[in-house]
Amino acid sequence: MSALRIEQVTTKKVIPKTEDLVFGKHYTDHMFVMDYQEGKGWYDPRIVPYESITLDPAAMVFHYGQTVFEGLKAYRTEDNQIKLFRPDENFKRLNRSSERLSMPQINEKDVLNYLKELIKIDQDWVPAEDGYSLYIRPFVIATEPNLSLAPSRSYRLMIILSPVGSYYKEGIHPVGIHVEEAFTRAVKGGTGTAKTAGNYSAAYKAQEKATKEGYSQVLWLDGIEKKYIEEVGSMNVFFKINGEVVTPELNGSILEGITRMSIIELLKTWGVPLSERRISLDELFRAYEQGLVEEAFGTGTAAVISPIGELNWNGKKMIINNKETGEVAKQLYETLTGIQTGKVADPFHWTVNVR
Ligand SMILES: *Cc1c(COP(=O)(O)O)cnc(C)c1O
Repeated sequence: MSALRIEQVTTKKVIPKTEDLVFGKHYTDHMFVMDYQEGKGWYDPRIVPYESITLDPAAMVFHYGQTVFEGLKAYRTEDNQIKLFRPDENFKRLNRSSERLSMPQINEKDVLNYLKELIKIDQDWVPAEDGYSLYIRPFVIATEPNLSLAPSRSYRLMIILSPVGSYYKEGIHPVGIHVEEAFTRAVKGGTGTAKTAGNYSAAYKAQEKATKEGYSQVLWLDGIEKKYIEEVGSMNVFFKINGEVVTPELNGSILEGITRMSIIELLKTWGVPLSERRISLDELFRAYEQGLVEEAFGTGTAAVISPIGELNWNGKKMIINNKETGEVAKQLYETLTGIQTGKVADPFHWTVNVR
């Protein structure tokens, strides 16, 4: 592990008031940067003032999208500790995404240590108010100036930090979902299991349709038969049908969420019947007609749990749990956010203290 270099700012920014926070708008005083060169490996890990970077216009990231990212959060506990939630899983997944994009592997432990140092330096930016947190965005870009179609031979890893507000200022409330049949998010063999830029910009067109129809997110179906449910927006999806919680099994096109993984572990220890399997829209609508669909919700780092109140499949509408948040969704939300903020015991040792 190379020695970490630290260059602190001379004047600190004014930290915005939590009520003025807008997602992804405000960044802390510092950022982490590390470079990679083929034959040399990763070098010059450093914490430097947050600032613009200079890249050659031919840098490969701009042309062929060789880039991966992660998203996780730091939370301030009531006794003023700062905690991360399963950050080792994020860096493992960053490496899996990189592997898919023919990008170099990082040393997960070293990078987690660098992240902790960065958060310590910018610790005043971790909000204390309930529901607020510091969003962490690690990402890697291909930097070699070269237009040939081959993996870049140089890369840059960066970590930037952004204080974020609560998704649920007025309390957790179910959203409406448009079922997308024309556009595809991902197919088996593609890049759906990787957090890579192209997956997200390719989803904007479907999101635009949903927004136009007054729905807040898209329900993605499998790209081959357009029959099986995969994800909702950029979240994994769960249904409670006739007492059993069902989530689509990882099939090579679904992104393996850390929230999803944690929910599966929680439900298992609670003894809630659970299955990871293929589930078709047809099956879901048939269960609905029999009055068996009890809950539906999306899961991911940003919102933790996002209950679904309505699904619209080509004009066929499904109203779930009277558009109210279900019991399982509520319990999961309270338990997960409780563990993250140190209010609830952490029997799984999911949290990691920054200081
Ligand atoms: C990040 C992401 C998720 C959720 O993953 P978490 O680790 O739970 O935040 C789900 N689906 C997609 C497509 C994602 O990009």
